[in-house]
Amino acid sequence: MASGKKKKKKRTEEENREFNQDWTETFAFICKTDGLPTCLICHEKLAHNKKSNLERHFTTKHTQFAGKYPTGDARKKAVEELQKKQQQSSFMLSNWAQSSNNVNLASFAV
Ligand SMILES: [Zn+2]
Repeated sequence: MASGKKKKKKRTEEENREFNQDWTETFAFICKTDGLPTCLICHEKLAHNKKSNLERHFTTKHTQFAGKYPTGDARKKAVEELQKKQQQSSFMLSNWAQSSNNVNLASFAV
C-alpha cells in the first residue's frame, strides 16, 4: 500500500523576476517563450530571471564578446546579429519538431 500525500505549496513568485528587455543588449540574453532567459551566444538557458545570474554568465563566459563589443552601439549591433541567426536557426529547428511522447515501455509485459 502506498499512500502518497502530496501537499502543494502555494508560493507567490512575484519577486520581480521578469525578463528585463535591457538585458538583451547588455548581456546578450533573450527571453524565450517559457519566460526564461537564454544566452544568444552559447544558447545556455538560465533558470532564473535574475540580473546577477545573467551578469555573471556574461562576464565569466563571454569575456571575449564583452571585450570585442563594448557596451553601446557595437554590442547592440552584435546582439542584433545574434538574434537574427537565432531566429533563422529556430525556424529550421521547427521543421524538426519531435513528437516522441509514446515511448514503448511495455516490451516485457506479456
Ligand atoms: Zn552564454
